[in-house]
Amino acid sequence: MVSATIVKEFTFDAAHRLEGHDDVCQNLHGHTYRLQVAVYGEIKAAPGAADDGMVIDFGRLSALVKREVVERLDHQYINEVLPFRPTSENLAAWIVRVLRDAGLPLQFVRLYETPSSYVEIQERDVPLGFAISCQ
Ligand SMILES: [Zn+2]
Repeated sequence: MVSATIVKEFTFDAAHRLEGHDDVCQNLHGHTYRLQVAVYGEIKAAPGAADDGMVIDFGRLSALVKREVVERLDHQYINEVLPFRPTSENLAAWIVRVLRDAGLPLQFVRLYETPSSYVEIQERDVPLGFAISCQ
């Protein structure tokens, strides 16, 4: 069996502020976030099946990430949507948890806050049952 990593990329625009930050991030501002979701698994050998030769159908992966993450954050003020300090690290950990809970065989999530700054979190680094608490 051959295994592979499948990566799908998304973008969304959102505003946030980091309360208590000692620089400009304490002010309300926005980002065009770029999100890469990586799924790992065996390439299915199921001749005749719709997903023969795939780890996961890109369309199915796309629909799931849009429903669970992108549509909840796009054009939102994140501080009012999620109950934790909305750093890139916390957002990426939340995304891992949400997608894992939705049944995705996740490998990692990479979240770009700017074109040159991203955080990457491996699925195995987010404890099961993990929930980010309020600030
Ligand atoms: Zn920011």
